[in-house]
Amino acid sequence: MSLKKKADFLRTTTFRLTLWYTTVFGGLSFVVFIIIYVSLMSHLKEQTDNELLNKAKEFSVLYDNHGTQALQSEFRRESESSGIKRVFFRLLSPQGEILVSSDLRQWTWLKSSRNQSGYTVEKGFSFNTLSLPNHQHKVRVVSKFTIDGNMIEVGSSLQSNELMMVKYREIFGIALMIMLICGGFVAWLLARKVMSGVCRVTQTANRIRKGDLSRRVPLGNEGQEIDALAVAFNGMLERIESLVGELKQVTDNVAHELRTPITRIRGMAEMTLDGDIGEYRELAALVIEESDRLIEMINTMLEIARTDLGVTQLASDPLDLRKTIAEAIDLFKPLAENKNINIHVDTLSQDVIVKGDRSKLQRVVANLLDNAIKYTSSGGKIVVSARMEDLQAVITIADTGIGIDTNDIPKIFDRFYRGDKSRTTFGSGLGLSLALTIVKAHGGDITVDSSLDTGSVFTIILPLT
Ligand code: ADP
Repeated sequence: MSLKKKADFLRTTTFRLTLWYTTVFGGLSFVVFIIIYVSLMSHLKEQTDNELLNKAKEFSVLYDNHGTQALQSEFRRESESSGIKRVFFRLLSPQGEILVSSDLRQWTWLKSSRNQSGYTVEKGFSFNTLSLPNHQHKVRVVSKFTIDGNMIEVGSSLQSNELMMVKYREIFGIALMIMLICGGFVAWLLARKVMSGVCRVTQTANRIRKGDLSRRVPLGNEGQEIDALAVAFNGMLERIESLVGELKQVTDNVAHELRTPITRIRGMAEMTLDGDIGEYRELAALVIEESDRLIEMINTMLEIARTDLGVTQLASDPLDLRKTIAEAIDLFKPLAENKNINIHVDTLSQDVIVKGDRSKLQRVVANLLDNAIKYTSSGGKIVVSARMEDLQAVITIADTGIGIDTNDIPKIFDRFYRGDKSRTTFGSGLGLSLALTIVKAHGGDITVDSSLDTGSVFTIILPLT
C-alpha cells in the first residue's frame, strides 16, 4: 500500500470506528479482568486465613488441654498430611525459643522470634505476611497466644495462590489478545456495513456528477439512519431532476415565446427605417407596447419561478376573501361592462378568513376573472362566490364562455399553454400557471370543470386559518 493510500485509509470513518470500538472493548475487558483479579485474590487470601485460623484454634485448644506432647505429635501429623514444604507449625516461648514444632528443615530461614507485627482480626490472633528477599513466594502466618504466655505460630506458603494468579494473568493476557483481534475484526465488519450505506450514497452522487440524474440510491438494511439518508438523498435528486426538467422546459418555452415578439419588434424597427418620418411615432408606440408585453411576460415567468422555488417570501396575514374578491371585481367591472358581461357576486354574509398574501391572492382572483371576461362573449354572465367548506375556503368563478376542450383541461395550467380556441385572443399562456403556483404555495389547489356548451367553473381551495 502506498504512503498516500495508507494515510487515506487511516482517515476513513471505517478505520476510526474500528479503532474506537476496539479501544472501548479492550478497555472494558481490562476493567473486568481487574475486578475478577482483585476479587479472586481477596477470596484466596480469605480462604487461606480461615484455614490457618482454624488450625491455630485447634492447636491452642489441644495445647491448653493436653500439653506439649500432644501438640508435638499433632504438629507432625498435620504437617506431613499438608506437606512439610507448604506448612509449618511451632510453639514459641515468650523469649522466642522454639518449644515444639513441625519439621522445619524447609523453613530454616524462619527467625527464632515471634512474628508479632501483623494485624489482629480476631481477639488473641494476629496475621502476618512474610516475604524474604531470597525467597520467591510469600508466607502467611497466624499467631496465637496460649494461656501460659507461649505463642503458637501456624504458617503456610502462598506459592499455590501466587501460581494461580500468575496462571490467571497469563490466560487473561492470551484471551485479551484473541478478544481484541476478534473484536477488532467484528468492529471492522460492523463499521464497514454501517458505512456501506454512505458509500452507496457517495457512489450514486459520483455517477450523478457525470450526468445521470435518473439514478437513485438503493435502500439497504444498514439501519434506519442510513435508510433515512438514502431516502432524503433520493428525495433531493427527485427535486433536482424535476427542477432541471422544468428549467429545460421553461428555457425551451422562453426561447420559443420570446422569438415571436422580438421578431415583431425587429420588423417594426425595419419598417421605421424604410417608412416615412410621419409613421415614426406610430411605430415607436407599437414597439413600446410590444416591449411592455415582453417585460410583463418575463416578470410573470420570474414570479412563477420564484414562488414555485419558495424564493419569494409570502406574507401570512389573516385576510377576508370576500374583500379580496370585491377589490378584484371593482378592478375588472369596467372591462366587463365594455363587453356587456354581467358579474354577479354570491358570497356569504359570514367572513371567509384565510392566512395568506393579500396581493398574491388578489392576483389569482384577478387572473381567473380576467380569463372569464376574456373567454366569455358579449351578453354572458360571470358568477363569483366564496364559502367555507370542511375547514377550507372555496372560491368559484363560473362563466358562460367558450368552455375548454376536454383534451386541453389537463394542460391549461402548464406554462405558455394556450387552448386552440383562444389563440385569436390576446394572452401569454402564463396566467393560470401563476395562479396555481401561488395557490399551491398557500397549501391550496385550483380545479376546473368545463364544457363547451355551458362554460367553465374554476374553483380555488385554500386552507382556513
Ligand atoms: P392565456 O389566457 O393568456 O392564454 P392562461 O394561462 O390564463 O393563459 O390560460 C391558459 C388557457 O386556458 C387559455 O389559453 C385558454 O385556452 C384556457 N382558459 C383559461 N381560462 C378559461 C376560461 N375561463 N374559459 C375558457 N378557456 C379558458
